[in-house]
Amino acid sequence: MISHDIANSLNEHSWIRVMFQEGKRLKQLHGEEHVFDFSIGGPALEPPEAFYQSLRQVVDEPLAGKHSYGDYQGLYEARERIAAYLANRYQTGFSPAHVVMTSGAAGALNLVFRSILNPGDEVVLLAPYFLEYERYVTNFGGACTIVPLTEESFDIDIDCVKEALTDKTKAIMVNSPHNPTGKVFSQENLSQLGRMMAEWEAETGRQLFLVYDSPYDQLTFGGTYANPFSASDRVIFVGSFSKELGLAGERVGYIALNEAFEHKDLLAAALAYCNRVMGFLHAPMLMQRAIAGMGSLEVDASPYRLRSEMMSDILREAGFSFLPPQGGFFIFPKSPIPDDVAFCMEAMERFHLLVVPGSQFGRAGHFRVSFSVSLEQIQRSKDVFRQLRAFFGG
Ligand code: PLP
Repeated sequence: MISHDIANSLNEHSWIRVMFQEGKRLKQLHGEEHVFDFSIGGPALEPPEAFYQSLRQVVDEPLAGKHSYGDYQGLYEARERIAAYLANRYQTGFSPAHVVMTSGAAGALNLVFRSILNPGDEVVLLAPYFLEYERYVTNFGGACTIVPLTEESFDIDIDCVKEALTDKTKAIMVNSPHNPTGKVFSQENLSQLGRMMAEWEAETGRQLFLVYDSPYDQLTFGGTYANPFSASDRVIFVGSFSKELGLAGERVGYIALNEAFEHKDLLAAALAYCNRVMGFLHAPMLMQRAIAGMGSLEVDASPYRLRSEMMSDILREAGFSFLPPQGGFFIFPKSPIPDDVAFCMEAMERFHLLVVPGSQFGRAGHFRVSFSVSLEQIQRSKDVFRQLRAFFGG
């Protein structure tokens, strides 16, 4: 009755779904305070007061047609706001003409792949990766080429990426801050990637896009962040307000192309057209207006830095080994046993502790801990992580 492709996907096992259902069941059975749910990737914080102030103003404004259809590309004032914000952050030129408002980063990535892929075109994904990417590529007949990040430090292995390029490769996807590892790629690593792409393009006469998915963009903990626009002139930048402003349920994000991007007019037109024909039409108007009316789009990363430090201390003291998170919501420790699924099952059944197996992200032997939870949950998980590690002989 339904498409074979979707039927196959429905039959695929999803650990995130299992965790979600098991988490609900365990909470009902034992009470919230006896379950330690670190499986969720949503924002832990409420939106800032500046957002609510702007939203209230938008709601109270006597504006006719406030809830009617809008521009497929997005409200001009919101695009203008984002262009100015990005120009300041990345010290490169942006015009509202090359910003497209979207239904979050997820909607944005679907617009991107719909706009750039022909059936059979390939997209390089760096493993581990956010598991939905595969679907976003195959939705439009694209194929994924998986290239692992380096073992311990999760850097981009430039030689491996180069080897994976074929005459069908259309794009390389980079996500920074990275889900699930917490890595923030360095400027040097991104620049090496950009140089390799330029050399390959010169040799082959083909063009590659660097799709830069950055929904955790401002949530970095080291004070610095890399600039993808100085690494390549063909960056398709995907941003979102889901995590940074705590608006995940409101579905608002954007795609931005900078001045250096050669075919920016054409691509921006394609993305806006895809917003229309894929049925999004445009990002939610109320949210676009509220964002346009905010004094600043800058975000304070310190509540997440605090969570990252507390969680890191707990995991380190328990004896887990991991790369200290540099940004985002996640830590990706090594599993004490090679079978990460067995480890996560044991954690769930024996300790009511929910973490996601690394194999779900294309890197077995690890597990993902989301610290985007309450400080109270992090504090009370100390003993349970210690007991879990001790159970596996730590
Ligand atoms: N990309 C990455 C790496 C993510 O982790 C997520 C959400 O968890 C998304 C994209 C989708 O975010 P949004 O809510 O903006 O669609």
